[in-house]
Amino acid sequence: MPTLSTSVAFVHVIRTWRLSKSVTAVIALGAMSLCLSTSAQACEFNNVHFKTDFEAGKIDECKQLTENHFELLTKPENRPINPSPWYAFKVVNKSTENQQISIVIKGEKAKPRYLPKMSIDGKQWQALPFDIIDNAIHISIQLQQQDLYIAGQEIIDNAFYAQWNQALAKQSGFEFQQLGLSTEGRRIDALVHSKPENKEWFLVIGRQHPPEITGALALLSFVEELASQQQLNADFLARFNVMIIPNLNPDGVAEGNWRHNTKGTDLNRDWGKFTQLETQQVQTWLNKTLVEQQKLVFALDFHSTQQDIFYTMPSDYTVAPSTFSEDWLKQLNDATVSSFTVRPKPGSSPNRGIFKQYLADEYNIHSITYEMGDNTNRELIKHVAQTAAQTLMQQMLSIEPEQYIYQPAVSNQ
Ligand SMILES: [Zn+2]
Repeated sequence: MPTLSTSVAFVHVIRTWRLSKSVTAVIALGAMSLCLSTSAQACEFNNVHFKTDFEAGKIDECKQLTENHFELLTKPENRPINPSPWYAFKVVNKSTENQQISIVIKGEKAKPRYLPKMSIDGKQWQALPFDIIDNAIHISIQLQQQDLYIAGQEIIDNAFYAQWNQALAKQSGFEFQQLGLSTEGRRIDALVHSKPENKEWFLVIGRQHPPEITGALALLSFVEELASQQQLNADFLARFNVMIIPNLNPDGVAEGNWRHNTKGTDLNRDWGKFTQLETQQVQTWLNKTLVEQQKLVFALDFHSTQQDIFYTMPSDYTVAPSTFSEDWLKQLNDATVSSFTVRPKPGSSPNRGIFKQYLADEYNIHSITYEMGDNTNRELIKHVAQTAAQTLMQQMLSIEPEQYIYQPAVSNQ
């Protein structure tokens, strides 16, 4: 683990530097390790050390304003970028005394998006009181002798996925497979449930955008429900093959990127273009799998945004069955608790490289960008995801195989 973190930080420095200062590239090569140590030391003060030497750790600059008052800055991996300033750091008390410190967290040229949370062990998180003044987050913490994690959302790192995938595979009939490797050589893993006699595939992907943790949480609960031992699941898995790729951007996750992969590309603008290794791994799988009678019938892609939204393909688009998404979301709305409102947002945006659009255009099927709000209650995310899995399995089973095949309308002349 420490080896991985070190190499990640190193690669990150190279990339940031290359994108911002390409002209002086030749001279700076020899100074890279110096550059790294300078930036790491910049967050160490006589009384406090802000560390980012862990997966998803992210702070680029630190300033001590007064003895107990610090300003931390997070910068995006490259631009242009959707302004979603991610931050995650560990606060180490270097004094033997407890200290009250205040921290200002700024995103470079971006308003705050993620509200601060705190954790001792990196697993259990609690919301921190905060103020937002001049587009910066202000927090005050009592620093005891224990290190403290502070981050914009709960941290779900690559190590977590590795354990979760293994545990899920162990408890269910799903098989844990390596789909391929990311640009920096990290594993992109998949959970697969298939039978040779089955012809219909359901695909689930997640974490194209690293800080979108509420979407990641929804995917975990959705898949756990899909893999649970119940009659509905048994019926569903007896007919449908399932492919789940929980974490498509492991490099972005490790580096604490705001949105892109390690090459500075938004993966959800790369479908159909396939310029990135990560999307290419899925393309290869699709091409290899969807041969002869094998057919993709539906897909979900988990994200987060300001509110809970389900981006769908319109019912009059060239997809089958025409009202699939509309019907399912109606069922989900009826089945979820009254405090949750399902907001479907049908739309088409051709040639922009978006996953759901690509699948609609390539395979004539529905798929949905499942977006959870950044601040949606975590128990509600779980409840909605479990209900989503149940209602989706019911709906998919109620549709005959031929109804999933798109038939262009015959014009009456
Ligand atoms: Zn997203």
